Parts: sequence; structure tokens; C-alpha cells
Amino acid sequence: DAKRNNKGKYAFYNPRIIQGLRKRLELEMDLRHAVKRNEFTLYYQPQIDLRTGAIAGCEALIRWVHPVRGVISPAVFIPLAEELGLIEEIGQWVLNTACRQTKAWNDQGFPFNISVNLSPRQLFQENLLSLVESALKESGLQPERLQLEITETAGADLFVMSQKLLAIEALGVRISIDDFGTGYNSLNYLKQLPLSQLKIDPSFIRGDHHDQQDVALVRMIVALAAELNLQVVAEGVESADHVRFLKQTHCALAQGYLFARPLGAEQLIEQLGAIRQRTSEIIIPETQ
Ligand code: C2E
Ligand code: MG
Ligand code: MG
Ligand code: MG
Repeated sequence: DAKRNNKGKYAFYNPRIIQGLRKRLELEMDLRHAVKRNEFTLYYQPQIDLRTGAIAGCEALIRWVHPVRGVISPAVFIPLAEELGLIEEIGQWVLNTACRQTKAWNDQGFPFNISVNLSPRQLFQENLLSLVESALKESGLQPERLQLEITETAGADLFVMSQKLLAIEALGVRISIDDFGTGYNSLNYLKQLPLSQLKIDPSFIRGDHHDQQDVALVRMIVALAAELNLQVVAEGVESADHVRFLKQTHCALAQGYLFARPLGAEQLIEQLGAIRQRTSEIIIPETQ
């Protein structure tokens, strides 16, 4: 129809759009080779126990170090990888690398847990269970150390999802729901899936804490989690004020720039002393 034709013409003759398309095509081609060319790396962001100030674990966050463009955020290339059918390969690399690194840390005397993000498409991947099994087996990591983070997906079949997750849970691996509270179906996820942990989306943490509604919502999420026997992690914690608020609500774990940014594996260990020092100044351990 005419409208569509006009749109097409506009797109065709607009140099900025063409440039945009070319950039995207280049990015696509580069992404297809990135795994083999070893261009991915994992960063690790500590998760802090709000009662003791100890580092309980880390979340693995992927980075693409593009040879020309430098570091590219997963927010940019993960959706592209999903679209191109590359997420399975990337996801497998992430899982193997994160398990191997964490096992090495555990052997060196750092008792960290590890959280690995799964994208929606990976959840419906045929061989997900065997990938998780082989990552554990090859690395020798204790299954209890591994946590998989899932997010809500529009239209996902929760029954199929729960079957898959139950099989993974049977290995000893725990399941966490990321960005909790932002989806349209959050309560059904809680009801139907074998979850161990819930991550409160930053939008709830960064709100105005003098605003009754934000306070009430975070309190409700923490209470709901306690009722369902789920561990709670607050994400995007950026200020001492956030920590004070979270301690009041009895949230167990916190993750955010206030404690540490995501760091490369070596950097994390180098900066561990400094992170622990900073953390102990923010969190005064409870005496019971
Ligand atoms: P996410 O899983 O919700 O990860 C939290 C994001 O918040 C990370 O962004 C982290 O760097 C950022 N963040 C942490 N603390 C703070 C803070 O205090 N303030 C602010 N402003 N941001 C903070 P990142 O690393 O860019 O990752 C973005 C998203 O990309 C992740 O969101 C996750 O959905 C996805 N992602 C990252 N790594 C992987 C991966 O290995 N596989 C898959 N499938 N997705 C991944
Ligand atoms: Mg996550
Ligand atoms: Mg999140
Ligand atoms: Mg997310």
C-alpha cells in the first residue's frame, strides 16, 4: 500500500538510515565471528551480604571487546545475538567460562557463588540441561555454587519452562528471577517456577525513598520473598541511602556501583582488599 511504499522510499533515500543499516550489517557479520575470534570476556560484579558485608558471590556480565569499536555493551549485542541465532553458542561460552573461573576462585580460597544470565531463547533451547551439566562437569564446580538468572518473557509457556527448570534444579543449581517486578506476569512466575532467588529491579531501589509507594513496594517484594522462602538481591545500589533503606526492609543481598562495578577476573582479585574495606565502611555487621 501507499503508506508502506512511502516509508520504504524514505528509508531508501535517507543516508543516515542507510549508514545505520550498514553499521548494523557490519556488526552482525562481526558478531558471527566473535566467539571463534575470542572477543568476548566476562566481567564479574560482587554481591554483598547486607548483614555481614561479605562478598557472597558475583554476577557474570559479558562484554564484547570489538577490535575496532572497543567494548560493546550486552544491552546492544545480546538482542542481536538472539535474533541471529547466535545466543546458544555465546551462552554456552558464558556458562563454561563462568563455571571454570568460579571453580578456580573456590580452589584459591574465595568462596564465591556465581550468577549467570540466561536469555529467553536459551531457556527454550533443546539441550540447555546438558549444557549446564557439562559446564559443571568440565569445570568441577559445585552445582550449589551456580545460579541461573532468567527474565520474564512475553508469551512464554510457563509449563514448558518449569519442566526445564525443574530438571536443572535437580542438579543442585539454583534459579533466580532477574528484573523482578517489571514484567506483566511476575506473580505467575513466582507461582509456577522452581525459584530460589529474586532480584529486585533497580527502578524500585532508586525511587524516592520518601515516597510511600516505593517504600511499600520494596517492603512488599521482600516480605513476599520471605513468605516463599526466596533469597532477595537488590540491584543497582548506588548510595548509602539505598543501603540504609534496604537494611530496614531486611533485604539479604545487594549489588551495585556503590560496592563495586563489574570487573575483569584479575582486576576483581586485585581490588578485593579495597572492595572489602569500602564495604565494611558502608555496612556495620549486625551483632547476632
Ligand atoms: P542484568 O542481568 O539486569 O545486569 C545488571 C546490569 O546493571 C549490568 O549491566 C550491570 O553492569 C548494571 N549495574 C550494576 N550495578 C549498577 C549500578 O549501581 N548502577 C547502574 N546504573 N547499573 C548497574 P550490563 O553488564 O551492561 O548488562 C546489561 C544486561 O545484559 C544484563 O542485565 C543482562 O540482561 C544482559 N547480559 C549481560 N551479560 C549477559 C550474558 O552473559 N548472557 C545474557 N544472555 N545476557 C547478559
Ligand atoms: Mg542479571
Ligand atoms: Mg537485572
Ligand atoms: Mg536485565
